[in-house]
Amino acid sequence: MTTGHLFIISAPSGTGKSLLLKLLLKNNKFKFNIKLSISYTTRIKRTGEVDNEDYFFISKKKFQTMIKNNEFLEYAKVFGNYYGTSKKNINNMLQNNTDIFLNIDWQGAKQVRKKIPQVCSIFILPPSIEELYKRLNLRGKDHIDIINKRILQSKKEIYHFYEYDYLIINNNINDAKFDLQNIIYAEHLKIKTQFNIYNNFINKLLNE
Ligand code: 5GP
Repeated sequence: MTTGHLFIISAPSGTGKSLLLKLLLKNNKFKFNIKLSISYTTRIKRTGEVDNEDYFFISKKKFQTMIKNNEFLEYAKVFGNYYGTSKKNINNMLQNNTDIFLNIDWQGAKQVRKKIPQVCSIFILPPSIEELYKRLNLRGKDHIDIINKRILQSKKEIYHFYEYDYLIINNNINDAKFDLQNIIYAEHLKIKTQFNIYNNFINKLLNE
């Protein structure tokens, strides 16, 4: 049986990562079954966000209990709040032959790579810092102090791009989506995956 592939996608805040993932998931003609992992967070829910869809919004106390019980595949503190990925949820989803995307930061990516070396990690860069400002302002969801803090954090995050397997520059959302889909295809065409699927056929070819 083949299991799904695990992907990590990281990007500085305002890079367009969420829109990119939305477009990817909306493409029902795409060959592979893809799901986005839902993280746990202690962050306050933003207007329009839905509990159990955007995040599992939980208290700090509950988050700490989950850390103690070793329930996280990874977790990190980002912008003063905790975010984490449940081990159990990921294992269940992968068994269903579904590709899973973890929308997490570089700290979480580092932890996942240690535990699951075959994970495929993708970093998205904005076309410029100016564009980041524009997008964060347009989003209109955060106070200007928070936006400035996020820009500073974004710059720090960018330093980690080289730790990833693939790099996409989000100059144009459709081009970025095309790049992302190609990365997913490439992962599925790797020898290990192909051999799992076609081992009877390959053995037959070799023995003819
Ligand atoms: P936001 O608060 O804007 O939804 O997310 C802030 C940052 O937290 C983003 O960079 C996002 O990738 C990261 N993040 C979201 N969920 C997780 C998670 O489960 N683990 C880690 N390490 N980072 C996360």
